[in-house]
Amino acid sequence: MRKKKSSVSALHEVEGVKQPLSTNDSSISKIKQKRREQPSESEFVTKILAGDISYLSRAITLVESTNPKHQQKSNAIIEQCLPHANKSVRIGITGVPGVGKSTFIEVFGKFYTSKGNKVAVLAIDPSSSVNKGSILGDKTRMEELVKDQNAYIRPSPSGNSLGGVAQKTRETIILCEAAGFDTIFIETVGVGQSETAVHSMVDFFLLLKLAGAGDELQGIKRGIIEMADAIVINKADENNIKQAELAKAEFARALHLYPPKESKWQPKVTTCSAFYNIGIDKIYELVQEYTSLTKVNGYFEKRRSEQNNYWLLETINQQLKTEFYTNKNVKKALKKYITDIENSKTTPFKAAQELLKLSKK
Ligand code: GDP
Repeated sequence: MRKKKSSVSALHEVEGVKQPLSTNDSSISKIKQKRREQPSESEFVTKILAGDISYLSRAITLVESTNPKHQQKSNAIIEQCLPHANKSVRIGITGVPGVGKSTFIEVFGKFYTSKGNKVAVLAIDPSSSVNKGSILGDKTRMEELVKDQNAYIRPSPSGNSLGGVAQKTRETIILCEAAGFDTIFIETVGVGQSETAVHSMVDFFLLLKLAGAGDELQGIKRGIIEMADAIVINKADENNIKQAELAKAEFARALHLYPPKESKWQPKVTTCSAFYNIGIDKIYELVQEYTSLTKVNGYFEKRRSEQNNYWLLETINQQLKTEFYTNKNVKKALKKYITDIENSKTTPFKAAQELLKLSKK
């Protein structure tokens, strides 16, 4: 009686199916081993150049890995991809949380793909390692773009230092370009130093803003305005249109007070509504105008080569730091020197000299 009852209940469990005889332990481990096997470097490169997204993603995972073997491999892949990179326009997009970055990137990205471009969306968010999970470049925030065959969205790599996170993103740009992406968006949140890092790897820097209560310039860092090639007042819709226009005028006036840029580009201010998809074409035109101007006057190339120099030095700095702080001798002695300094037995300068000497042993 009891048995019959359980067989009609939703909780009734179907008796397990026996494992087929052919699936023995050794064949399972063979399958697992195969899955673990990494494609060769040249296989990676061939597939990436052919635009294979799954290989691109796997290569980016190698770039993001802290395992030295993975890094060695990703360096080799990047090196072979380099001659095929660089043919893109890299656009940095920043703004405070809630300004509408993901909404904007979704419509802006769709606009580019509708023009036949291939768009990669990357992000720099050094806080993601602390928050356990990225808040930027998140696929769930760009539902339409993620379905687009000509778009690729990759969340921010995690990492403890902004320099490290930024370097990974820069290497990822190269891989995406080699895979045929001709438009790269790099998103960052408008707090902290991450804008400077993004600015150091893009051609065009776009600042998203909201119209406020008429004091638009308050609380905005001077450095960010100086970096911007365009300031876009988002959410210029519904009851907000008039305020957005006022904000636009105020920013335009302020921008004219800044000295002319080396690029000879006069930064522009415009309004848009990412939500209602209004004004997006104007921003696309601005980027086109900018790239035409700077390609003709040579600034585009000059800036890219300056960025390369910057990243060369930045990478050396990073590497030296990592080598120093992970050095066994240094690790051992550092605490002792800190105590010695606290007890006035030595000075920070002398201790630093001795620690540097120790790191070379
Ligand atoms: P993010 O934090 O900068 O990425 O901002 P989101 O794209 O997540 O947008 C924050 C909120 O603002 C969401 O509720 C959006 O729907 C809304 N939003 C974004 N763009 C616009 C816009 O152009 N107009 C209006 N009215 N709302 C918008």
